[in-house]
Amino acid sequence: MAFELPKLKYAFDALEPHIDAKTMEIHHDKHHAGYTKKLNDALDGTGQNGKTIENILHNLDMDNTAVRNNGGGYYNHNLYWEVMSPNGGGKPSGELATAIDKKFGSFDSFKEEFSKAGATQFGSGWAWLCVKEGGTVEICSTANQDNPLMPGIGCGGTPILGMDVWEHAYYLKYQNQRPAYIEAFFNVVNWEEVAARYAKKK
Ligand code: MN
Repeated sequence: MAFELPKLKYAFDALEPHIDAKTMEIHHDKHHAGYTKKLNDALDGTGQNGKTIENILHNLDMDNTAVRNNGGGYYNHNLYWEVMSPNGGGKPSGELATAIDKKFGSFDSFKEEFSKAGATQFGSGWAWLCVKEGGTVEICSTANQDNPLMPGIGCGGTPILGMDVWEHAYYLKYQNQRPAYIEAFFNVVNWEEVAARYAKKK
């Protein structure tokens, strides 16, 4: 069964003014749709039909650039839309907040480090908050559409928060001001969703 482009749970303009409608529309309908189609094309006839995207990425041959780039792109954007919400922002609570405080000292320190991971990722890529077995959390970044599920990526655990720092994620509104986009992203983070993913994977 082919992978499908997920529907957004909110309107393109729902994250305004932090993320503009035009960026959301192109990002979802063109970029994410493109990764989805090219992933399906790359998997066609390989016998991988029916596997979950997580399984495919875990067992990926990193030399298979078509699946690496488009499978990563497919998975990463699925997560990205889910961890944003028009009702987002603020801070996490509960056990995720405890894990963040334990690792980074405070939410503000976490935010600073996560923002830095996104800002200093050279070129296109992603910043991640991952959960490792036992419940510890970790920040890392990856290039292009790579992600922490892929073998040997050196950024372990399961991603529970992903921030796209490709220029297509912010350039229409923020141009070269990636840090301004990162600051804005924090206003739409769906901490409830991130906490649910933490609870499931810890
Ligand atoms: Mn993107």
